Amino acid sequence: MKPVDMNSLINYVSLKILGGSDYLLDALEEYLVNGEGPAIVAHKYNISKHQLRGYAQRIIEKSGNEVRAKKVIPILKEMASGIKPVVIRDENGVYQCSLCETVVAREDSEEHVRKYHKDVLTLSIKNMMEKLEEIRAKRSKPVIFTSAS
Ligand SMILES: [Zn+2]
Repeated sequence: MKPVDMNSLINYVSLKILGGSDYLLDALEEYLVNGEGPAIVAHKYNISKHQLRGYAQRIIEKSGNEVRAKKVIPILKEMASGIKPVVIRDENGVYQCSLCETVVAREDSEEHVRKYHKDVLTLSIKNMMEKLEEIRAKRSKPVIFTSAS
């Protein structure tokens, strides 16, 4: 069985949150972990069902399988708790970077962060890694995943 690709998960989640999709883990928890209907969850977070399934698919792939993804999502939520989006969507649905005030298209928001604010991305990844170490240290029983690196 494929191991959980924690580095890839951390990269993916960091970039999504910084790019303005800070609802990602809440939506995935409701859909995958709690078993809410995709239409309800998608509507709540103002995304399409197709997008929601796409997010779920990516997390499942990186986790190895769906059972593991369900275990990993709450841990990722805890790890990402301090991360705030860099690109913010206003009430008119306009995505604007809070650091350089550039207006970006929704689909370009992650690329914007990766290209112009790499330091923020690197720091977020580092923070998530540190949280993961804290979470692992707190647990008495062995954690289900091992770092792929
Ligand atoms: Zn910017």
